[in-house]
Amino acid sequence: MISLSLTIPRPCRNLALTPALENETDTGRTATRSRVFPNPTKPKSGAITMGIPITVAYGDGIGPEIMAATLMVLKEAGADLEPEVIEIGESVYQRGVSSGIEPASWESLRRTGVFLKSPVTTPQGGGFKSLNVTIRKGLGLYANVRPCQAYAPFVRTLHPRMDLVIIRENEEDLYAGIEHRQTDEVMQCLKLISRPGCERIVRYAFEFARAHGRTKVTCMTKDNIMKLTDGLFHQVFDEIGRDYPELKQDHLIIDIGAARLADTPEIFDVIVTPNLYGDILSDIAAQVAGSVGLAGSANIGDHGAMFEAIHGSAPTIAGKNLANPSGLLQAAVMMLVHLGLGELATTIRNAWLRTLEDGLHTADIAGTLTKTTVGTLEFAQAVVERLGQRPERLKPASFEADNPDPIPAPTHPPSLTRAPAPSPAAALPAYRRAPETSKTLVGVDLFLNWREGSPEDLGRTLSKSATPKLTLCMITNRGVKVWPNGLPETFCTDHWRCRFMSERQEPIDHRDILELYQRVIQSGFDVIKTENLCLFDGVPGFALGQGQ
Ligand code: NAD
Repeated sequence: MISLSLTIPRPCRNLALTPALENETDTGRTATRSRVFPNPTKPKSGAITMGIPITVAYGDGIGPEIMAATLMVLKEAGADLEPEVIEIGESVYQRGVSSGIEPASWESLRRTGVFLKSPVTTPQGGGFKSLNVTIRKGLGLYANVRPCQAYAPFVRTLHPRMDLVIIRENEEDLYAGIEHRQTDEVMQCLKLISRPGCERIVRYAFEFARAHGRTKVTCMTKDNIMKLTDGLFHQVFDEIGRDYPELKQDHLIIDIGAARLADTPEIFDVIVTPNLYGDILSDIAAQVAGSVGLAGSANIGDHGAMFEAIHGSAPTIAGKNLANPSGLLQAAVMMLVHLGLGELATTIRNAWLRTLEDGLHTADIAGTLTKTTVGTLEFAQAVVERLGQRPERLKPASFEADNPDPIPAPTHPPSLTRAPAPSPAAALPAYRRAPETSKTLVGVDLFLNWREGSPEDLGRTLSKSATPKLTLCMITNRGVKVWPNGLPETFCTDHWRCRFMSERQEPIDHRDILELYQRVIQSGFDVIKTENLCLFDGVPGFALGQGQ
């Protein structure tokens, strides 16, 4: 439940910012804003304009250091931003808020629609939810855009020509967060993949490639094993790809795809992939490019966007002025482009590239061309000193109008005082639901918690619960068929999937399932859950058991 504004907490850190202004919100409550980046080019007369409001969180571990460094660069570059600081992460978890974010902070996020965020530490276990996943899903930030590029020879890498973008689906897959303990021995995590989710991310990837002059889009899934879930993602990729004939397109199974990414990343251009694979691939890609400390990411939705480094809170180097602030700074550059401030983004990116060329490096990227190994703050100062300069050997950035941002601009923040950048992908077509298929119920999988004997014992006893419409046709354990005719070598847990189907896939109705359920529990079995088995336009909407 999202409640409207309370006072937005401001971390007690010496941020070297100008004093905060207390603004009355339209709910009559206060939100703490700091007018920290006055625009030096602003007209001195005429109407008073406000800076662009953004929400900022300093996070945990190295978060406060890299955020202070990033904000300093933004400020010195003259970004006319009005950050609202919210508190997230460890301190909030420790207050017993299992989501890691106070309800009041949502109000700022929803109002500004733009979030610059440092990494947070997610406590292991203990019922805490990942804050990143909560924010991405809560705000509907469906696309995670992660550019990974080599900066050779200034940052050492085996792949100097590497320059790719990973576009990761951000809301679905195993990150749906639907997990259950079902028996003593077995936990379950549901992998959910939807057609609208696939269509949106796949089209976004093609639009991104088109808008940025990229030439190839590669889809990676594991649809040789997960034929329904990953199979849908692949199928949608093939369908939507037909609208982009000028772009090369291919599909790789994720395992060989990840291997090639580690070995020959220069063969990739844009990669689109479901959530979990995208998470793993983008760390591999960033590390192969030089350091996880270098890459920023954008999380994009129809109603807002979040910008962050791809790395975590790196607790072992926190507070030591060792962290590389580049990932968050690159995220901030993406944020500026998103806000229509392409010129400013170009200035900062070019100063940053020049800093790398001049050999001022943090320890994580120090190598043969390093002239001085600097700390977090000194690195940011070096970038500031180079504002207005361009790189001499690395490719200079140009985020102006000739290179439009394909990222949809936020549509709702009422307080935004500048027009967001025009955006091709803002015009992503609305999802059009296909005509309903004919769905026929033909059976049910009953899941049992049972530890009384062998698969043969279970098959024999459970067969007696069959109804006139539903007979037992298969039992699997962890997906492997163990009855009838299982192999004695197969190890069995206490978690059984028992498939009951109608003869020749005749239609049944829910009462037949209820009758079966009743008979099974009357025989003393512990039913954990059921899954209906349906044909969709005559095609089975369920996988076979392995060995079936
Ligand atoms: P990590 O990314 O924090 O660190 C991995 C390695 O990279 C470490 O050796 C670290 O020192 C180094 N590193 C990371 N960022 C660096 C930087 N900017 N400069 C120099 N070196 C850097 O990953 P982890 O150790 O697996 O996770 C630590 C914590 O961060 C965990 O609590 C995890 O849940 C959290 N995390 C948060 C986010 C996020 O908020 N977006 C993302 C990933 C992990």
